[in-house]
Amino acid sequence: MDKKLAELIGKDKVSTDIGDRLCFSKDVTPLCYKWIDLYKLPPYVSDIIASPETTEDVIKIVNFARENNKKLFIYGGGSGVVGGVIPTESGITLDMTRMSGIINLDEESLTVEVQSGIIGQNLEDFLNKKNYTLRHFPQSIRSASVGGLIATKSTGQFSTKYGGIENYVVGLEAVLPDGSLLNTGDKPRSSTGPDINNFFIGSEGVFGVITKAILKIYKMPEEVKYHCFIYSDIFRALDSIREIMQSGIKPPVIRLYNSEESRLKFEKLGFDYDGCLLILCFEGKKELVEAESSVAKKICSGMHARDIGEELGKIWFENRFDTRHILEKEEEYGGMSDAIELAASWSKIKKLYTEVEEYFKKRNITLASHFSHVYTSGVSVYNIFYLNAGDEKEAIDRFYQIWDDVMEIALKNEATISHHHGIGIIKKTRLKQELGKGMELIKKLKDNLDPENIINPEKLIEN
Ligand SMILES: Cc1cc2nc3c(=O)[nH]c(=O)nc-3n(C[C@H](O)[C@H](O)[C@H](O)COP(=O)(O)OP(=O)(O)OC[C@H]3O[C@@H](n4cnc5c(N)ncnc54)[C@H](O)[C@@H]3O)c2cc1C
Repeated sequence: MDKKLAELIGKDKVSTDIGDRLCFSKDVTPLCYKWIDLYKLPPYVSDIIASPETTEDVIKIVNFARENNKKLFIYGGGSGVVGGVIPTESGITLDMTRMSGIINLDEESLTVEVQSGIIGQNLEDFLNKKNYTLRHFPQSIRSASVGGLIATKSTGQFSTKYGGIENYVVGLEAVLPDGSLLNTGDKPRSSTGPDINNFFIGSEGVFGVITKAILKIYKMPEEVKYHCFIYSDIFRALDSIREIMQSGIKPPVIRLYNSEESRLKFEKLGFDYDGCLLILCFEGKKELVEAESSVAKKICSGMHARDIGEELGKIWFENRFDTRHILEKEEEYGGMSDAIELAASWSKIKKLYTEVEEYFKKRNITLASHFSHVYTSGVSVYNIFYLNAGDEKEAIDRFYQIWDDVMEIALKNEATISHHHGIGIIKKTRLKQELGKGMELIKKLKDNLDPENIINPEKLIEN
């Protein structure tokens, strides 16, 4: 089988080496860490790794998979945290890492066209050399690909001003399961029916392979300024950030940590306050930064916040990619940690936060939470839990139980079960409950586009 594929796309683009097969069969889902300890080989390993370099290669691989009734799994950067790349059946994994070219920089329209396998940081480095920037800064920017960022509907640390990836995608190219090619161009907006880009943003690869994308870019900001506050009461702090957003200003970064996470994350970085840390960042033209920071400061002071200046904001920026606290727990024998990212409207968020906090408190599980993607209508809450279950199997059981329970709490509070990590294989049991009729629509689309269920089976959709 692999020989036939090699004849089609070239020998150097096909591998059955066990090292490659293992490498492209996992992502950063905590389960993958546990599998390493529990089994000699993880329960799911891809049979063949195909590494296309061009869209034409992708078309050939998709056609090959369909004609030979082989499942096809898509691997972008492997930084997903919900098992999106795990090959749940025998099949071929499409390794997109060689499709990493920059095709066109349109300096007049401020867009960049790339192959979808490019890693976010590599694109950012290219843009920075020309005094441009993407400003889509997920914490995983050094390992996530543009295709993966689109397929999971990712968001970044500067999202409050620039939005999630859906605000960046101007156009894209995708290979559909029947091997045909779709291209949506670079129009700034159109009223020609539903937005086709949106079929792929958050699609988790089930509708086809994203091969290219045209993304918005920005000029480097003239000025960047941080400002931090301490609140004794998390709900008063939440009211402040709602006021800030609803006042019409748009700081790119609004990060509000509850007192537990303020201490856990920042104590080693010099934080010695009692309370909840709020970090604000303002950027853009100098006059705009001055005006926006002055409006925000007035709102925070009016809510009895203690002004602690800019230092901790700068420290956060320097340490913004540090996730050791989660990884160290996952690596412990019997240890488990994960981040559950929910979102709700302002009128529902406090109750949701309280119920999630009570859930973990009752079970004596450490929970650290922050609010970091803020909208005029609501906010996302990022709940990190840490536990040690005593052994690896028990840790996996607790992991599934916690996810299911917290998703139930979220749904009861009319919140979303995923603000930006996606569904993968971890959350799909509860997706129908959130989407209702919408789930049927997704299924019908999938059945029509991919009747043999070749591409990314078992992802997003519960069969
Ligand atoms: C430390 C850490 C921090 C993180 N921080 C953030 C964050 O700040 N914000 C955020 O949103 N996420 C974050 N994530 C999650 C993860 O990085 C994102 O989900 C990211 O978008 C995944 O991109 P990837 O290229 O690694 O995708 P992968 O993990 O390779 O794949 C993810 C899914 O997308 C599909 N896919 C990949 N490429 C394509 C393609 N070309 N066409 C179609 N489908 C495709 C895959 O099949 C899979 O279903 C973080 C993860 C880690 C480990």
